[in-house]
Amino acid sequence: MNLDTVIAKIPDFPKPGILFYDITTVFKTPAALRFCLEQICSHFPAEEIDGVVGVESRGFIMSSLYAHETQTPLLLARKAGKLPGKTVSKKYALEYGTATMEMHVEDIVAGKRYLIVDDLIATGGTLAAVAHMIEQQGGEVAGIFSIIGLPFLQYEEKIGQYRIITLQDYH
Ligand code: IMP
Repeated sequence: MNLDTVIAKIPDFPKPGILFYDITTVFKTPAALRFCLEQICSHFPAEEIDGVVGVESRGFIMSSLYAHETQTPLLLARKAGKLPGKTVSKKYALEYGTATMEMHVEDIVAGKRYLIVDDLIATGGTLAAVAHMIEQQGGEVAGIFSIIGLPFLQYEEKIGQYRIITLQDYH
């Protein structure tokens, strides 16, 4: 399936000069959403994954579908201050300023294999922060899945050591 025909491109969002790739159009197209689910399941068979980590917020959607389809535990990586339990956190740089991702500390078990899922990889900073938390607790990053990749933003520099699957790249 050609996902490019389904993904909406919104110029000047959230600010002038940025072309925003909008995957809400994938979510509202059942055949496209099913295609994404088939892809993630075929690239990451359930027997190779102990937990799937969904990245707030659009990463929650594909990670939930994968978790349900494969009966894999679903874990959430959230923006700072949203998780109620004891957390591990990682601060990372944005274009302007910083952001922090958090996970419940008991969600990451040493020696277990985690698949991280988001909707789009831009600079890779968000996923690098999530991978860092997993590894800091002794977990293994088994792979990263994202519907869209923007390789021209050099995300390989931050997360190139991991197995990365994207379904639609823009250059
Ligand atoms: P990164 O940390 O620079 O890789 O940014 C990735 C995060 O920014 C992801 O969680 C995306 O949801 C979000 N993001 C950045 N650009 C876009 C876009 O064009 N469309 C949708 N999300 C975006």
